[in-house]
Amino acid sequence: MSINILDQNTINKIAAGEVVERPSSVVKELVENAIDAGSNAVTIEIKDGGTSLIRITDNGCGISNEDVKIAFLRHATSKIKQATDLMNVSSLGFRGEALSSISAVSQVELITKTKDSFVGIRYCMDGGIEKIFEEAGAPDGTTFLIRNLFYNTPARRKFLKTNATEAGYISNVVEQLCMSHPEVSFRFIVNGKPKIQTMGNSKLKDVIYTIYGRDITSHLLEINFQTEDMKINGYIGEPVISRGNRNFENYYINGRYIKSDIISKAIEDAYAPFMMQHKYPFTAFHIVINPELLDVNVHPTKMELRFSNQNELYNAIEKTVKDSLSHKELIPEIEVTLQKEAEDHQPIQEVKQKEIPTSQIKMPEPFEEKRALAFKETIPPVVYEQSELFEKKELLKQENKKDIRIIGQVFETYWIMEFDKNMYIVDQHAAHEKVLFERIMKAYNNRTIQTQQISPPIIITPIPSEIDLLKENLTHFTSLGFEIEDFGKTDFAIRGIPSEFSQGDPKEIMLEVLDSLSSENKNTTQKTIYHRIATMACKAAVKGNNHLSYPEAQALISELMDLDQPYHCPHGRPTMITMSNYELEKKFNRIV
Ligand code: ADP
Ligand code: MG
Repeated sequence: MSINILDQNTINKIAAGEVVERPSSVVKELVENAIDAGSNAVTIEIKDGGTSLIRITDNGCGISNEDVKIAFLRHATSKIKQATDLMNVSSLGFRGEALSSISAVSQVELITKTKDSFVGIRYCMDGGIEKIFEEAGAPDGTTFLIRNLFYNTPARRKFLKTNATEAGYISNVVEQLCMSHPEVSFRFIVNGKPKIQTMGNSKLKDVIYTIYGRDITSHLLEINFQTEDMKINGYIGEPVISRGNRNFENYYINGRYIKSDIISKAIEDAYAPFMMQHKYPFTAFHIVINPELLDVNVHPTKMELRFSNQNELYNAIEKTVKDSLSHKELIPEIEVTLQKEAEDHQPIQEVKQKEIPTSQIKMPEPFEEKRALAFKETIPPVVYEQSELFEKKELLKQENKKDIRIIGQVFETYWIMEFDKNMYIVDQHAAHEKVLFERIMKAYNNRTIQTQQISPPIIITPIPSEIDLLKENLTHFTSLGFEIEDFGKTDFAIRGIPSEFSQGDPKEIMLEVLDSLSSENKNTTQKTIYHRIATMACKAAVKGNNHLSYPEAQALISELMDLDQPYHCPHGRPTMITMSNYELEKKFNRIV
């Protein structure tokens, strides 16, 4: 066996495997370069899922004539000079690997010009081999054209999904770039059709509107937080717009889209009291952190970071998100779908053009028209409806209790109330759950839990795995007001339960709690106790169709309104929904 030293081209091809996994990686790297170059307008065009063409045009600083070839060398970067600079990276790139990797596996054409030079450069390469280097007339800025990605690495090409799927991945990357840089105006064109355009006015909410539409934008809460080392600001979604997966959890650190277990955990812990289990919130916020407290050099595609002070970060996010959720009335509105509103769900471009013809804002286009090699397509302007239209209505405040009028009950479950030109519908089951939950939490916090004796005791026989759980957590149960005795073998006697649950079936409550515990993680924390209580409260609560007299309902609603967060049951279901007088009038066509 002889040992060979690989030539540079082979080395680059191998390295490309890390950085350039698929067309979306190319888009990410090149747009990050455009942002690092100080651009405020970037156009991204793809064809055939990015496999036949990716074109990125920016109006940034450009690459000087003498640097063009150097930029394509491996580990060539203008962003850091030495290892110590890694401690303080403020640019998105720093590894100097993208251009060498991309050019190794595609046909690259670069046209670039700096402000100071009279003429630009056109540089073409096939699979990392130089083909053309010539002067060319060009506006300030840089255009990259990447053609036939992976044409010389068939194994990689085979591994790609369909063009539509690859285009979808690119779209996700572009969306994240738009949200991570609201100060940059992005335009995204797929097979000649404009898909996304952002204004670049630095307003994150406008970007969210462009990408996620009206529904999400009308349910946002603002978050703000600041210390010496850290600043957080942006938006989080009301619990009503929750999702079944984490795809809508967006956050950016120093302008970089990343994934972080610690940040996701902070978000989800803050939402836990407001959200059903296995639901995840919408978030989009920016964290600006002293770069010295970050290690950005831990992942080839820079999707992960290391924080020097994880706890501080966790606490800041958890508190900020929780504060924002706690101080907002979170009553879901009943949707009235009229013809005109149904139109809003059409693709953004057409609808907005129809609605607000006065506020037409054209995409900044300092360079696109003149571009010698520009594509032929003419792109219709996108018109924006300002997101400020979706500000919230007046809040239903606790001190307004005396002005709430309870009208009556329907379907033996829902109570209708009127307050300040709004109709509220309260779910008595959810309301009761919430009230009971808060009572037991209060008793638990104040250590005033009362135990109601059960005589004769009730015997339960949990399954073996639950027996272990019960034994492990016996002290927790005791501190919550249970009296449980180990009868040996597999039997336990319940001799007392918290008095709040006296209406419920003790056996059912216990088994339910054990069941919920067994699906949690092994170690019991404050949070698992909390969830357990929520489960118990739920079981013991008035069932949906139990009869409730008018005075009982009045007392229940009054107690509910006294709570800090009356709007969700412990599982995150709403306790009430609302419909305004205005919406009713619309529904009856009294107003159009
Ligand atoms: P990195 O971004 O890690 O520095 P890249 O391989 O992505 O490495 O880019 C190499 C260098 O090429 C950059 O450091 C930068 O100087 C230059 N460059 C790349 N793209 C652009 C662009 N769009 N505008 C100006 N300079 C660019
Ligand atoms: Mg780069």
